[in-house]
Amino acid sequence: MPGFNRKSQQEQAAENMILTEPYACSEKSPPANRVNLDHVTVVLHKPRLPENIGAAARAARNMGISRLLVVQPEDPNRERMLMMATGSAARLIQEMTIYPDLASALGPFQYIVGTSARVGGNFRQSPVTPRDLARQLIPLSRHNHIALVFGPENWGLTNEELALCHAMVTIPTSDFRSLNLAQAVLIVAYEIFLARQDLQPRFIPRLANSWELEAMYAELQDTLLQINYIGHQNPEHWMMRLRRFFSRHGLRAAEVQVIRGICRQIDWYVRRRLENPRPDSHQDST
Ligand code: SAH
Repeated sequence: MPGFNRKSQQEQAAENMILTEPYACSEKSPPANRVNLDHVTVVLHKPRLPENIGAAARAARNMGISRLLVVQPEDPNRERMLMMATGSAARLIQEMTIYPDLASALGPFQYIVGTSARVGGNFRQSPVTPRDLARQLIPLSRHNHIALVFGPENWGLTNEELALCHAMVTIPTSDFRSLNLAQAVLIVAYEIFLARQDLQPRFIPRLANSWELEAMYAELQDTLLQINYIGHQNPEHWMMRLRRFFSRHGLRAAEVQVIRGICRQIDWYVRRRLENPRPDSHQDST
């Protein structure tokens, strides 16, 4: 597709490395009492209409967000996107990256926000309003890259897709809850653009990114299955509880390493006991 940023896996990985590097202060650092918009990316998952991608790019650009990722667009017709993304919003379309799947698009981000019109369901946290989210992002966005994920026009994000997110935003509406995709982007981005905090924000360190977290969850699930702590029937249900717990605390990369280290130690111990079922105390006393 001419003009499109369809990148090879290596190019994507290289770009991801840039995103995962610790925050380096740019010459003009954003004010500490506002969201750092340079660290905010709009992610459109499986958008169906190119016009909606264009209108979403324009909404993001109006509110100072210049990064756009698109995952599996149904019709990546740039002309149709550009009909809606006029002016300097066109740059977002020219520079947007297209990803083949959501997990790899989200890998480098340290804080992932899902958006959904659906209320209830098995999400890991209760939904917040765009205004409350924006306040949380003021300290978080200083050292962490934030993804705002929007779902397809017909279904929205599935529970599995929402499981990759650390927070969920629902825009308050009347009983007809489903907004147009680009209008949802505009409202969330508008609140983020307006948010201010008078007090000096508390320090929030760099958190683990999604690659690091998902590798930890996979290892934790294997270990907990091995020691029969969680059932083989529906491990996702139990893992969702753990995701909820860990999301509340915001793990750092070093803390993820500690959890993975504990899993490896348990695995080693279980293997050793299986190979040599005699209790340690017997061995020690001989
Ligand atoms: N029927 C879908 C709506 C899809 S609209 C659903 O129930 O979620 C396309 C996308 O716009 C959604 O996936 C979501 O990202 C966003 N969106 C629409 N209405 C929203 C609302 N009230 N709150 C938060 N996001 C919304």
